[in-house]
Amino acid sequence: MSTVTIKDVQTILTQPAGSRLVIVKIITSEPGLYGVGCATFTQRFRAVHTAIEQHLKPFLIGRDVDRIEEIYRMGAVHSYWRNGPVLNNALSGVDQALWDIKGKRANMPVYQLLGGKCREAAACYAHAGGSTKEEIVDSIRGFMEEGYQYIRVQKGGYGGLSPNRPAPENSPEGAYYDPRSYMRQHLEVFEHVREELGFEIELCHDIHERLIPIDAVGFAKDMEKFKLFFLEDPLAPEDIEWFNNIRQQCSTPLAMGELFNHPREWQPLIEGRLIDFIRMHVSQMGGITPAKAVASFAQMYGIRTAWHGPGDTSPVGHAANLHLDLWAPNFGIQEWCRFPEVCYEVFPGLPELRKGYLYPNDKPGLGIDVDEAAAAKYPCQDSVEMWTQTRLPDGSPARP
Ligand code: MG
Repeated sequence: MSTVTIKDVQTILTQPAGSRLVIVKIITSEPGLYGVGCATFTQRFRAVHTAIEQHLKPFLIGRDVDRIEEIYRMGAVHSYWRNGPVLNNALSGVDQALWDIKGKRANMPVYQLLGGKCREAAACYAHAGGSTKEEIVDSIRGFMEEGYQYIRVQKGGYGGLSPNRPAPENSPEGAYYDPRSYMRQHLEVFEHVREELGFEIELCHDIHERLIPIDAVGFAKDMEKFKLFFLEDPLAPEDIEWFNNIRQQCSTPLAMGELFNHPREWQPLIEGRLIDFIRMHVSQMGGITPAKAVASFAQMYGIRTAWHGPGDTSPVGHAANLHLDLWAPNFGIQEWCRFPEVCYEVFPGLPELRKGYLYPNDKPGLGIDVDEAAAAKYPCQDSVEMWTQTRLPDGSPARP
């Protein structure tokens, strides 16, 4: 095979639905051959754009497209000051695009390059919710009728508004929540859901690292009787030493890690058998290359994958997740955000979900493309995020 090199690196910014998306497109020296990758960090998309255009592009031009591992390794340290969501997302765009190109060169889907399929499709979970327990049961029933076997249940998003604990006078605007009320309300919701729907349907719940550690221990213990498929982000990355305490108290399965930035952050939790699902945001970690390494490491400890799959993972990122899902011997579950129709127009080849399973299209590479003319119809809007301006009942800032 002749050497194919990187001729150009382009960044596509688009916002066809709620989230601002960042896509890397690598153009090669072979006419017509290019690849796409997800570099989406929706809240700081312009910083990622600059990192790609001003810093990574000059570093990449002329390099051999086949040397994915080397480009990932060198790309991760070339700035000397390394790691973090901006640089890792930029690198992920490049890494995923190179996997896409390698697949196209081999005339194989990326899951074949990883080692081939362990399954035909990835079981997905959807997000049920509502503002009352009755609404929540209706929402779950709707997804069950669509064929979902796994459903995440939240009351009012990440929940916990408390009408009984007003903020002090002159408190700033924000997304207020009350951690204690959140716990009480969700115990009631899960009691009701299990009474109404039984234990056949698999349920997940996301704490979103909103509790102080000792409350997370108590809540995980109280939730044990509801037999969750997993309880997500019970602790913040800053509090991981507390996982030991949760493990000693209950057998609630734990999913963790969408905020992690570096493969080594998984090591203590996996080696200690302190979690059950690696909940990696693949682009935040730097792409398919590091995700594959962490998945293989977790597999040896009986820990499964549950790649983060919200709307601020681009459709290209979801396609990358799916290739990893089809391959991973230790696949657990895939989060699916149910993209609106417009995203299928902007991203031809976006995987399709049928009866709770996400299917690939079996085209070479990642099997997804960006229609740049369609993407240009939806330019990114600058705005100051409100949902991440979270506050406790007394008005003090909190983790979103
Ligand atoms: Mg989460």
